[in-house]
Amino acid sequence: MEPVNIIGAGLAGSEAAWQIARAGVPVILHEMRPSVETFAHKTGDCAEMVCSNSFRSDDDVMNAVGLLHWEMRAAGGLIMEMADRHRLPAGGALAVDRDAFSQAVTQTLRADPLIEIRNGEIADLPDTGNWIVATGPLTSDRLATAIRGLTGTEALAFFDAIAPIVHADTIDMSVAWEQSRYDKGETEAERRAYINCPMTKPQYEAFIDALLAADKTEFHEGETAGYFDGCLPIEVMAERGRETLRHGPMKPVGLTNTHNPEEKAYAVVQLRRDNALGTLYNIVGFQTKMKYGAQTQVFRMIPGLENASFARLGGIHRNSFLNSPTLLDDRMRLRNQPNLRFAGQVTGVEGYVESAAMGLLAGRMAAAQAKGQDLAPPPFTTATGALVNHITGGAEARTFQPMNVNFGLFPPLDQMKGGRKGRKDRYPAYTQRAKDDFSAWLATQ
Ligand SMILES: Cc1cc2nc3c(=O)[nH]c(=O)nc-3n(C[C@H](O)[C@H](O)[C@H](O)COP(=O)(O)OP(=O)(O)OC[C@H]3O[C@@H](n4cnc5c(N)ncnc54)[C@H](O)[C@@H]3O)c2cc1C
Repeated sequence: MEPVNIIGAGLAGSEAAWQIARAGVPVILHEMRPSVETFAHKTGDCAEMVCSNSFRSDDDVMNAVGLLHWEMRAAGGLIMEMADRHRLPAGGALAVDRDAFSQAVTQTLRADPLIEIRNGEIADLPDTGNWIVATGPLTSDRLATAIRGLTGTEALAFFDAIAPIVHADTIDMSVAWEQSRYDKGETEAERRAYINCPMTKPQYEAFIDALLAADKTEFHEGETAGYFDGCLPIEVMAERGRETLRHGPMKPVGLTNTHNPEEKAYAVVQLRRDNALGTLYNIVGFQTKMKYGAQTQVFRMIPGLENASFARLGGIHRNSFLNSPTLLDDRMRLRNQPNLRFAGQVTGVEGYVESAAMGLLAGRMAAAQAKGQDLAPPPFTTATGALVNHITGGAEARTFQPMNVNFGLFPPLDQMKGGRKGRKDRYPAYTQRAKDDFSAWLATQ
């Protein structure tokens, strides 16, 4: 049988190789380290964790990442098995001894008779065969150039600029209102496409003070600040002048507060729909390098967001990722060259766990293809399915930015209470539905 080739033995590529071999299909896993290095990796091992040693929450009832752990364990995932074996005490989180973990992944893959690990950079993309590209946020420059040759220059970004994303049902609509600036749009839905949060002058001044005082994260060593003026962090805009934001993303023009039409807001924060379900909204132009704790405090100062629950917080990182909603089909293949399947962070998911989960799915799909079969993704009621559905179609392509798994990606359950208060009942219902549906999907294979 023809082998599946995988480029990149990170979290995604390692998991994909394992899944393919478990299906009885041979694999060649190409890894450029240690002969070609990245600024973040330190070893030549597979599945190296480049920064934190945590796979985040292990709670599979109340947390979407914990649910992803559950699904990967149910699918016999190597990353979860080795993480469990090298687990360190960390309360409810799954933290690991990073060196022991990645050495164990490497040894397991090397010992598998169906897996061959080849050292070397792949610089070109072949137009035949069955390939998985899992080269991550630090895809080598030569391969990035080859990818851009196939997808167009704009379709592979080198930095992300992530604005915080809010669960729509936690926005206080007795304060905020729906309206596009100057009521622009052909349809009623377009004229009401944004949610607006008004600020008085004292509220604006207090917000700017909080932005300036907030703790920020630095770029990692070697991660040069290559973002440009078009997507400056909001705190940097505020440093340039207290009025800068009021003339930029917070300008109050072209908007009328439907709750109080006579009163002109001093500044307005706008939120834009982030997914087709309409469950998530991003805060427009609010990419930031504030620390997560500071972000929650500062953004809850915005009128209408006092009780907001955040599906993800903002960030700016060196990150190679595709505009997957326009480029990939639901089998994670490049639409215009389907012998190439993408997996991991390069598809626009973010985080070790999400990347490994996309590796697991791509691996199973590639193995099915090698056997002349077709594997559909799991339903989007599951964590794996919700994530792949988001990147390959559910997300807004125009403003696509990397995404963590979160319950905002799941189809809502009828008759369940929304908002932060409803979480105690809603989340266990989501996770139970996901476990049932994921088990049923596995049973079909
Ligand atoms: C500085 C930094 C800090 C981060 N911190 C965190 C964190 O704390 N927590 C978290 O969850 N996520 C973090 N991330 C994101 C993290 O990198 C991903 O979540 C995860 O590693 C992605 O897995 P992956 O398999 O897609 O990519 P990777 O794990 O990066 O694997 C990709 C592999 O492909 C190889 N490769 C690249 N190009 C080629 C080529 N042309 N030929 C052959 N091999 C190639 C690379 O050497 C690498 O081994 C961080 C990322 C960066 C850059």
